[in-house]
Amino acid sequence: MDVTSVDEVLLCADPREWRAGDSWLAGGTVIYSYGTDITRGAPRRLLDITGAGWPPLTWHHDAAGQPSLEIAATCRVADLRALADDPRPGGVHRADLPGLDLIPPVCDSFVASWKIWNVSTVGGNVATALPAGPLISLLTAWDATALILRPDGRRRRAAVADLVAGPAKTRLGYGELIRSFLVPGSSLRAQPAFRRISLTERGRSAALLIGRRTSAGSLRLSVTASVFRPVMLDLVAEAELGAHPGAVRADAAAWRVAVDRAAGRWYDDIHGDPAWRRLMTHRLGDEILAELLPGAATGVDAAAGRITGDLRIERSAA
Ligand SMILES: Cc1cc2nc3c(=O)[nH]c(=O)nc-3n(C[C@H](O)[C@H](O)[C@H](O)COP(=O)(O)OP(=O)(O)OC[C@H]3O[C@@H](n4cnc5c(N)ncnc54)[C@H](O)[C@@H]3O)c2cc1C
Repeated sequence: MDVTSVDEVLLCADPREWRAGDSWLAGGTVIYSYGTDITRGAPRRLLDITGAGWPPLTWHHDAAGQPSLEIAATCRVADLRALADDPRPGGVHRADLPGLDLIPPVCDSFVASWKIWNVSTVGGNVATALPAGPLISLLTAWDATALILRPDGRRRRAAVADLVAGPAKTRLGYGELIRSFLVPGSSLRAQPAFRRISLTERGRSAALLIGRRTSAGSLRLSVTASVFRPVMLDLVAEAELGAHPGAVRADAAAWRVAVDRAAGRWYDDIHGDPAWRRLMTHRLGDEILAELLPGAATGVDAAAGRITGDLRIERSAA
C-alpha cells in the first residue's frame, strides 16, 4: 500500500538525523499494510534502517564461557526462527539452551506466514507494541533488555517488558531507535513452558503465556496478548517463599488474584472477549505451574499434563 504522506525515503540508522515527522522503517510489514505509522501518525520521511549492516544474531561469552545472545533490531523473524535449529548455538550443545525451544511456537504465533517472516523484524514487532506481538512475549519471557540509540548520541537500556506501554504505544522517546535486544544466558538455560490460545487455529493470539523455571521451586511467568501490556509475575512454592519476599505463592488461587490485580483490565478486540481472555489466562497459567513446578505448585492438579491451545513446544532439546 502507498504511504501517501511520505515525501522522502532515505537509508539511515542514525538518530542524530531524526526530524519531526520521521518514522523508522524496518521490514515495512506494518507501515505498508496500514499505509501509515500506527505508533506515531502519518510520516513525512521514512528512515530505512535495514542497510545498517547490524549482524542479526551475536553471541557474547562471559568469563566462564557461558553464552548470552544479542539480537539486532533488524534481525528478521526468519533468522530468529533458524536459530532454534542450530545444533551448536553460541558454541554450546543445543540441549544446553532449552530456552531456544520457545522460538518455533512463538514464530508460529504470528498470524503472518513464513513469507512475512522473511521481511518483518524483531525490532519492528516490539516497536509496534501490539498485544499479540509474539516477539514481545518471547523477549519479556527471556527478561531481555533493549539497547536504545538516542538523538543526542547517547545510549540507554530498558527492559522490553517496560518498553511496551500499551497497544501501539511504547516508551521510546523522540527519535529513539532500538539497536538490539540483550538476552541473558541464564534465560536460555532455564526450562521453559509455553501456552497460547486463539479463537481460531493459527489465528491472532488471545492469550499467550510463557513460564521459565528460575529454581526448583520458582518460576517467572510472562502474560501477554490477553492484557494491555506485558505482565510479569514471580511465582514461588511455599517452601521457598521465605527466600523471595514479595513473590506470589505458586498456588492456583493466589496467582489468579495476583494476575487479575496486575492486569487491571483485560484486552478487548475482535480476537477475544475480555472475560474469556481472563479465564483462558487463568487456565493456561495453571498448566504452566503444573508443568514447571510439579509437586510444588498447589491447586493445579487438574491442570497436570493438560495442554490447552493450538501451539506448543514440539521438540525437546534433550
Ligand atoms: C499478514 C500479516 C499478519 C501479521 N500478524 C501479526 C501478528 O500476529 N502479531 C503482530 O504483532 N504483528 C503482526 N503483523 C505485523 C508485523 O508483521 C509484525 O509486527 C512485524 O514484526 C513488524 O516488523 P517490521 O520490521 O515489518 O516493522 P515496520 O513496519 O518496518 O515498522 C513497524 C513500526 O516499528 C517502528 N520501528 C521498526 N523498527 C524500529 C526500531 N529498530 N526502533 C524503533 N522503532 C522501530 C517503525 O517506525 C513503525 O512504527 C502482521 C503483518 C501481516 C502483513
